[in-house]
Amino acid sequence: MPEPDPDAGAPTSPEERGAEMPAPPEGLAKRVWEPLQAQTVYDLERVIDYCEELIEHKERPVSPSETAGEGEVADKKPPQNLSREEQRVAKEELEEMSTDEMKELSEDELTRYGHVQIRKLPCGPGCDGCPHGPYRYIVYRDSRGKVTSKYAGKADGG
Ligand SMILES: [Zn+2]
Repeated sequence: MPEPDPDAGAPTSPEERGAEMPAPPEGLAKRVWEPLQAQTVYDLERVIDYCEELIEHKERPVSPSETAGEGEVADKKPPQNLSREEQRVAKEELEEMSTDEMKELSEDELTRYGHVQIRKLPCGPGCDGCPHGPYRYIVYRDSRGKVTSKYAGKADGG
C-alpha cells in the first residue's frame, strides 16, 4: 500500500475548478479556450508571447511575389503605408464592403486596402474578345493570414 502524498492537497471536482475560472471570450470556440484553462501561469505567458508572434506573422505585408493571379497585370499600385491599427480598420471595412461600394472608389482610394492590380483575363479558347477587362482587384491578406483578392469593378477602358 503506497503512502498518501501529503503535498497532493484535497481533490477538487472539475466542476469546482471550472466555477472559479473567468468566463472565456464570447464566441470563442470551446476547443480553443478549454485547454488554456488547464495550463500553468508559465505556459500561459508563453502562449501570450506565441500569439503575439502569430499575429505579427498573419499581418505581415503581402510581398509582390505573392500577388500572382489569373491573367496579365496591366497596371498596379502598391498599398498605402498605414499603421497596424489603421490596417485593421481598413480590413474590417473591406470585409464588409460590397462590389458596388468598391466600384465607387478610385484606384488610389483602393490602395488603403492592399495592392491594387488592373488585370486582363482570358476566358477560354475560341473567344474573339480575349483578354477581357481591364478589371480592378485588391490583393490583401485575410484575417487568417492567407493572401486573397477581391474584385473591385471594371477599370477605365473596361
Ligand atoms: Zn474571352
